[in-house]
Amino acid sequence: MKLNIVDRFIKELPADPILENSRRQVKNACFSYVTPKKTAQPQMLHVSNEMLSALGMSPEDGTSKAFLNVFTGNSILPNTKPYAMCYGGHQFGNWAGQLGDGRAINLAEVKHQQQHWVLQLKGAGETPYSRTADGLAVLRSSVREYLCSEAMYHLGVPTTRALSLALSGDDVMRDMLYDGNRAYEKGAIVSRASQSFLRFGNYQILASRQDNETLKTLVDYTIKHHYSQLGKPSKATYVQFFEAVVEHTLEMLIHWQRVGFVHGVMNTDNMSILGQTIDYGPYGWLEGYDPQWTPNTTDSQFKRYRYGAQLDIGLWNLYQLANALYPLIEEAEDLERILHAYHENAQAQYLDMMRSKLGLCTVKQKDKALIANLEEVLQLTETDMTIFFRNLSEFSLEEPLKGIPIIKDAFYIINEVSDVIKQKWNFWFKTYAERLQHEVLTSDERKTKMNQVNPKYVLRNYMAQLAIDDANKGDYKLIDELFNLLKQPYDEQPDHEKWFVKRPDWARHKAGCSMLSCSS
Ligand code: AMP
Ligand code: MG
Repeated sequence: MKLNIVDRFIKELPADPILENSRRQVKNACFSYVTPKKTAQPQMLHVSNEMLSALGMSPEDGTSKAFLNVFTGNSILPNTKPYAMCYGGHQFGNWAGQLGDGRAINLAEVKHQQQHWVLQLKGAGETPYSRTADGLAVLRSSVREYLCSEAMYHLGVPTTRALSLALSGDDVMRDMLYDGNRAYEKGAIVSRASQSFLRFGNYQILASRQDNETLKTLVDYTIKHHYSQLGKPSKATYVQFFEAVVEHTLEMLIHWQRVGFVHGVMNTDNMSILGQTIDYGPYGWLEGYDPQWTPNTTDSQFKRYRYGAQLDIGLWNLYQLANALYPLIEEAEDLERILHAYHENAQAQYLDMMRSKLGLCTVKQKDKALIANLEEVLQLTETDMTIFFRNLSEFSLEEPLKGIPIIKDAFYIINEVSDVIKQKWNFWFKTYAERLQHEVLTSDERKTKMNQVNPKYVLRNYMAQLAIDDANKGDYKLIDELFNLLKQPYDEQPDHEKWFVKRPDWARHKAGCSMLSCSS
């Protein structure tokens, strides 16, 4: 196993001078050196061949002892110095101070085919940022992160990637539902990769400490390596940098809305500076279309991070980033202009995205009403978002009355679909049929286009849970099956039709399927 190590982060940014692995506030530094914890009996459960190749490794490397040891933290790659990053964040709207990589350890940066990748272990032991926790991760949350990040990538959603999933061989104590029932679970380690794991919180923590010097160093670093098109740092460049982050963030959020992904914990420490989906914790997929839904039980009272609020929360988080960058710009006007433009841009991009889901290639005044109306009708009775949009591509504008039969598989409780609801649907289908008359595509062309944006297969919450239940019993086949299934989410896969179904009834209230806590 030979990797082309090109460490930039630790070479160019200030390090915490203390090497001891003790909990502390880390000042005037972007990271602390730390060594992963040795594990009892590591076992590799799954490796992504695609990521091996992206990193310059072969499938044989992935099955080697050296790979197992490095990606479970038991040995360190030659000439590398693992580290944990210092960041802060707003959690559920409140400033939480220093957080940091409490259970993530960056191993090294690798350059392959002009692409830089930071390799990171999640669940590899304590760091100076672990606060009161143990730095470990359990199998259930690791399976969820491993499968979902790759599924998101193949759906075309910007995301961090996953390279491997391993058992540590150690048991980890968790109170899964925060109800006082603590139990041992199997410990696991995911290795993940991204161009950078920098979050809004990395900048916020420095600004909160009025450490403008380190803040400038970090922002200049970010521009140099990740936004290099912006050129030499200056106040004007910092504004453009902020504008670019806003664009990337919004783009990611529109994709989330498109595929029905609910992140569940959009704290500013979980917002990537590259606009990638990061930190797959209590996330979930919309089954019944419901803007009020959040998978995160910790958020069940206020539902701050519900599906329908994600675009607004993105803006709230961007305000916090703007505040953090302000000391370098010292002029609020441009930042405010960008933030004020967000709402309109978000609305426009959301409409465009919804048009694409409906197979509309032209723009008409009435589209906004058509889409708003659809969102209402979708909520009259529990209606599966994925099945609805996928089946909608079968709709024929000549036969609007066949609309309901085409999408009826999306209804969860067929008895609930009253005559009034049917009427409303038929009215919507009639309007949709009229609207389609203004389009130039043939039905077949429209169907093809719609199927490229409306996935057939997503990682429904119960699917991940089935894979977890099997994995806890030592059977890892389903992890592999889902991993492969979700590589082609837009394709028809006749052998896998069983995964194109509504959430089964048993999963409606089961932990892990409909509700998740942050405990991981
Ligand atoms: P999250 O909500 O998962 O993004 O985590 C918020 C903060 O808690 C981050 O600083 C994490 O590193 C830290 N954290 C979460 N779980 C653990 C754990 N098991 N051990 C140490 N730190 C943790
Ligand atoms: Mg996090």
